[in-house]
Amino acid sequence: MNDSQRHEALHKAPIVKMDKVNKHFGSLHVMQDIDLEVAPGEVVVIVGASGSGKSTLIRCVNGLEEFQSGAIEVDGNQLLPYGKSGRSLQTIRTEVGMVFQQFNLFPHLSVRDNVTLAPLKVRGWNRQHSTEIADRLLERVGISDQADKYPSQLSGGQQQRVALARALAMEPRLMLFDEPTSALDPEMIGEVLDAMRELANEGMTMMIVTHEMGFAREVADRVIFVHGGRIVEQGPPDEIFDNPRHERTQSFLARVL
Ligand code: ADP
Ligand code: MG
Repeated sequence: MNDSQRHEALHKAPIVKMDKVNKHFGSLHVMQDIDLEVAPGEVVVIVGASGSGKSTLIRCVNGLEEFQSGAIEVDGNQLLPYGKSGRSLQTIRTEVGMVFQQFNLFPHLSVRDNVTLAPLKVRGWNRQHSTEIADRLLERVGISDQADKYPSQLSGGQQQRVALARALAMEPRLMLFDEPTSALDPEMIGEVLDAMRELANEGMTMMIVTHEMGFAREVADRVIFVHGGRIVEQGPPDEIFDNPRHERTQSFLARVL
């Protein structure tokens, strides 16, 4: 976002609103009073050590994890504690796209069919429309020549770009990414980050967990540092990376940068 877009976004209702969210796994308090708002078009990058609660945080946003107190609102739909969200859970799942570390493609479906499945089944769009959208998205992520292949015939970087196209086919209002390049060979990381960068430039609202700090600095409007289930520090990337205030952020960055 540029400055005027940011100014404008601040006056729009947030797409994500987390209000004092707490989550426990047994005795483990994995999310502690998480307050977080994400504005339309904003790119939020979440960083922190392994086990700090990053995945749990973003998985709560599309209802993949339950939480025990607080509230989450996604594009006006409320998620409630203990999974008591009713129909809004379905709505949120159709409006929020997610890309995981493991690509999670359907192995028995062709690339094109992976992308058309949800538009056909969940949106109820007809085959022609769904296929047109799939082919456009596959072209956009640079793999239109692979549409008739099966996932196992593709490289990891290509599979992850299919996963991105599949999520985008539902025309999501928000995209979540959980370490999308962590399972990739180094030479394939760039092609996935390029596709994500393009999406960010087009104005998609994104929450991204990543260890790619150069990418984070470049695309993030805001970087959030999580430690022990808490948001310890947040701010514009230059502030967090060049001038972290919290000692935990400093020691984390000293290890990863
Ligand atoms: P991160 O993504 O930052 O590595 P996670 O959100 O995956 O962290 O995990 C946060 C903490 O919660 C870790 O201590 C992890 O072991 C624990 N945890 C995650 N998922 C579960 C689960 N399903 N059951 C029990 N503990 C879990
Ligand atoms: Mg994780």
